[in-house]
Amino acid sequence: MVKGFAGEMARVNLSTGEIRKEKINEEWARLFIGGRGYGGKIIYDEVDPTTDPFASDNKVVIATGPATTSNAPASGRTVIVTKAPLNGTIACSNVGGFFGPQIKQAGYDMVIIEGKAEKPVYLWINDGNIQIRDAQHLWGKKPSKVEQLVKRETGPKARVMTIGPVGAKLSRIAAVMFDVNRASGRTGVGAALGSKNFLGIAAKGTGKIEFADPAGLKAANSKARKLLKEKPIPSQGLPTYGTSVLVNIINEIGGYPTRNAQDAYFPTAGQTGGEAIVEKVLIKRGACAACPITCGRITEIREGKYVGDCGEGPEYETTWALGAMCGVDDLNAITKANYLCNEYGLDTISAGSTIACAMELYEKGYIPERDVPFPIRFGDGDAVVKLVQVMGEREGILGDLLAEGSYRLAEHYGHPELSMTVKKQEFPAYDPRAIKGIGLNYATSNRGACHVRGYTISPEVLSWPSAVDRLKYEGKAELDKTFQDFTAVVDSSGMCLFTFFGMANMSDYGSILRAATGMPYSDAELLKAGERIWNLERLWNLRAGYTKKDDTLPSRLLKEPIVSGPSKGEVCELDLMLPEYYKARGWDGGGRPTKEKLEELGLTL
Ligand code: SF4
Repeated sequence: MVKGFAGEMARVNLSTGEIRKEKINEEWARLFIGGRGYGGKIIYDEVDPTTDPFASDNKVVIATGPATTSNAPASGRTVIVTKAPLNGTIACSNVGGFFGPQIKQAGYDMVIIEGKAEKPVYLWINDGNIQIRDAQHLWGKKPSKVEQLVKRETGPKARVMTIGPVGAKLSRIAAVMFDVNRASGRTGVGAALGSKNFLGIAAKGTGKIEFADPAGLKAANSKARKLLKEKPIPSQGLPTYGTSVLVNIINEIGGYPTRNAQDAYFPTAGQTGGEAIVEKVLIKRGACAACPITCGRITEIREGKYVGDCGEGPEYETTWALGAMCGVDDLNAITKANYLCNEYGLDTISAGSTIACAMELYEKGYIPERDVPFPIRFGDGDAVVKLVQVMGEREGILGDLLAEGSYRLAEHYGHPELSMTVKKQEFPAYDPRAIKGIGLNYATSNRGACHVRGYTISPEVLSWPSAVDRLKYEGKAELDKTFQDFTAVVDSSGMCLFTFFGMANMSDYGSILRAATGMPYSDAELLKAGERIWNLERLWNLRAGYTKKDDTLPSRLLKEPIVSGPSKGEVCELDLMLPEYYKARGWDGGGRPTKEKLEELGLTL
């Protein structure tokens, strides 16, 4: 058996009710590591890239990695891999919480969901035993309610992942919620499960995972924890202020998309930043399994019309999407809208950006008055709260369109250029006009615009592990490629990407993964595995119909200079970076991996 893995995955066919256990493939564990890589390989081999994401032949892989349960720092991640309802790409959505270790200790590194159930069901996985259970009484309920009822049926120690009401309503921006408030947010993975009448999984495990070199693993983990303790971002910035520590940092360089990215500087951003969150709503920090960083925010609204509401967040991307992107600086309204997104099971980035898009469409007169339940103007925090509700309920024509994401909304009203998306996915809280490398990353990210597929913000803004000029486009192609491949390894390991803020060398992860699995892969081979994973995802997208023309950015970012702030006048020079990027990747001028590159990576078309 492969060390570092539970050794088995469960294949559950909802159409037939059949449950099969399969061994983890040792060669795949070497070539694709686990998590995102291994799950991607399953989707690549087994799902037709041209199928409808809601068709019963789409599959959903829920996967952990070899570092899960190893006590490596922040090693409690779970990924969901499927054909994305939002855009048909190969989606991998990553989440923290405590579910991953439970399912692995219950005996399964991964669960593959196939087919479609006749009626809503959920899985109860209890130390190796798997039952398909009726979920009709839970369908469409909030994650907090589902968790409460499922724990009553399975026991208080079960960890629960569930879709929310919008997953059941097939919203293409539906998340899957873990431990109530942690979201596997992007690309609409919640709707992929909803389309299968699949609510989620309750898991409890007490098994012990065997690691190849327990002493070596302990030493590697200690070293990693020491690195995180020594560096200011993971030991001070993130624990003290949460991820929203970035609000002021990004705004002060003029890279904070504002009012649907009509600008990139928001003068009152400070009222919503990490410091303001600590002062106004924070109750205590939160952490995922085995995580020393504790970037989570447990919060309560203490004043105003939403007083008394409590929950988790907002995180940085949420603060921005429901805040500056909508022109809103009311932290209480942002926090309330964030709670509602969690209750509906909505991806906060896409939800906020879609509302911002609706506001611009409305203010420009492209949405007729008859379609809106109330005026939807930039700067109105209460309108953002109400629009999340309208979206979550799919209420009226506007609610129905909002739940489909900004691309379909803007297209419906004849102005797709006002959707701030790449490959139909809303981009996050960094403006590519002010930070060029992240623009190239958005354009080339395999799941559509994304910051956590290659977080070049780290060198471009935070000067970690070394400073790179954010306004230069030269050198960004190599930088992006390296960050993308590196991230694919971290995502496949089961560890949180934020560990990078202390662990900037592949050897920091390599020593953990080698000790966990006993695999003889070198650091260079691990990085090559990251490149293999990236290319596998690219091949899938090409087969799904994506081409070079989709490696782009919203025209606003290419043509409309930033209006105010420290990055005034900048646009993103994507056309100068993209050919360099293809070259750095060993792809042809059309963005297709060459025969030589595929041979080097051991991949075939
Ligand atoms: S750094 Fe934050 S998101 Fe990552 S595992 Fe730790 S608490 Fe969770």
